Amino acid sequence: MATTNAILTTAKPIILPPLPWADNALEPFISKNTIGFHYGKHHKAYVDKLNELIAGKPEADMPLEDIVRRTVGDPKKVEILHNAQQTWNHTFYWNSMRPGGGGKPPREIAEKIESSFGDYDTFKKAFVAAAVGQFGSGWAWLIAEGGTLKIVATPDGEDLLPTSATPLLTLDVWEHAYYLDYQNRRKDYLVAVIDNLLNWEFATQNLAHRND
Ligand code: MN
Repeated sequence: MATTNAILTTAKPIILPPLPWADNALEPFISKNTIGFHYGKHHKAYVDKLNELIAGKPEADMPLEDIVRRTVGDPKKVEILHNAQQTWNHTFYWNSMRPGGGGKPPREIAEKIESSFGDYDTFKKAFVAAAVGQFGSGWAWLIAEGGTLKIVATPDGEDLLPTSATPLLTLDVWEHAYYLDYQNRRKDYLVAVIDNLLNWEFATQNLAHRND
């Protein structure tokens, strides 16, 4: 896990990082079949497309996070931006889960959750509500910002790299993340991930390196 940020930011050309666990390790909550398509087809396609789009351009020499930050708002670079965001988001998502995870977090994060949301159950309800309520495709995030934890949802591939927020965990709410296992039951997928898979160690590590 310690190498996650290095993989995310410094690899050139942009690579599809190995999954942090075996492709069947999240069963029965997320199937090997879903991981096969989601990682092997969707995530890989974003990485391949990004490398194709930046070949011979200044972005080819930039770390992934810089590509996102420097193409945001440039109408000529929208396609590069979208593929760079989705490349980054998916690696962050894989690391946001682990077998044997989920449930109540370790003390450091638990204290932050209590001071920010009141208690764990209120946090969980808010995380589910934001993720269920994201209309269409997108992401739900637990972030640290301004000394407190917050939950936000973003549409499509949008991420928080250009903001002052520090993402701690994310949930992919594109249909490809859950449709094979849960069909239209997005909420069931979210509750299963939050209860059984959330990687609180990854969140703790991200909290320790927050921007604010
Ligand atoms: Mn996805």
